[in-house]
Amino acid sequence: MLNACELEIDLFCKGMRLSDDLSLEGARGVSRTRAGLGSGLEIALPSQSRLKDELWVNVPVVETFAATSPYLLTGNPAAGYRIFDARFDTYYPVRIPAEPRWYAQMTSRDIPMSRVGVLQGTYLGIYLNMVCTFWNYSPALNCRFCTTGQNVGTTEAADKTLSDVLETCWAARDESNVTFVHLNGGFQGSRGIAFAQPYVRAIKEQVGALVGVQLAPEKDFSQYDRLLDLGVDHLSFCLEFFDPEWFARLCPGKARMLGQKLFFDALEYCAARMPRGAVSGEIIAGVEPIEKTLEAIDYIASIGAFPTVCIFRPTVGSDMESWPPPAFEDMVVVMRHVYDACRRHWLPIGAAPNIEVSLVVNPDDAALLAERDAGFYSYEAWRRLIRFAARPVFRHRMATRSRG
Ligand code: SF4
Repeated sequence: MLNACELEIDLFCKGMRLSDDLSLEGARGVSRTRAGLGSGLEIALPSQSRLKDELWVNVPVVETFAATSPYLLTGNPAAGYRIFDARFDTYYPVRIPAEPRWYAQMTSRDIPMSRVGVLQGTYLGIYLNMVCTFWNYSPALNCRFCTTGQNVGTTEAADKTLSDVLETCWAARDESNVTFVHLNGGFQGSRGIAFAQPYVRAIKEQVGALVGVQLAPEKDFSQYDRLLDLGVDHLSFCLEFFDPEWFARLCPGKARMLGQKLFFDALEYCAARMPRGAVSGEIIAGVEPIEKTLEAIDYIASIGAFPTVCIFRPTVGSDMESWPPPAFEDMVVVMRHVYDACRRHWLPIGAAPNIEVSLVVNPDDAALLAERDAGFYSYEAWRRLIRFAARPVFRHRMATRSRG
């Protein structure tokens, strides 16, 4: 049997088949409303460990490689669900989260809320801006793994007003206990952060949620100061690849319009001004040589930021659709390194309340991979203490100041 984190990684790498008699009635549907890497079925794996209760994973089910996966999902809402591993004749019990009722609710502009934002794990993800402008060039400058240009305006609303976003956030908070709203929008020239600011302000003031922003970096770093003044809780930067050649090859828009150095500079600028772990550097593992991925993880953790590592998914419709998914063994090495880097740099992983990200292996999921030595136990004891001490801080940050 694999432990829950190993299973999570293997599901990212191999995907899963759906049995003919499977009933997913009432489950969250397969959603393709965010940048390239999220296109699967949301499931929660019981951890069987005291470290955390469940691990969330967005399992690839529509990609070609998933059709030959040894994993087969069976079950129905009444009897529950299991994943059968045909290689070892093994069953893993899993939970399939229900689709929240608010997905079908309309905003006051008559837009279904599921076209404004979706749950990804336990947080609310909203693609805020018009489609990332890398898709508008001819030939297109989009990142080669991404499918955002095909989603915005089709599976989700092309423009979202403040009222659309606030109403969706209220519903997600009230009905799904959402504590974190993540706003992203790809590349918007020098207007992306300014566009996001009123949304950040309104969500902070009127919803009472933690707010994260993920946009391509902008050269005027005072824009980040403005976001900090508004109380933004989290900033993330999609570095994608550490090796400059892989970065230029697979992220032509980022390389040509911004340059890789700007990502590092913006990350360092924000990491120096925000609490440790409030900034993330995001990278994709399983494409560039693994040594580069490990180097990226060490760099990100060394400046006090979280390494957020996505396992590469050759998403249907992307330019990299026919690329192979990464090997499980390599990804175990990467995720173990993530936890180890966070431990070595004393990053407070898993401290914020109820934030489980299904698109990546959360750094605290990877605790299940770590060697049980003295360093592990002292870091875990420190993490428990930080979680406890941080509660009033997060309560304060999530306090609603008014409701319009
Ligand atoms: S910056 Fe790249 S990954 Fe992000 S939305 Fe644009 S094309 Fe997609």
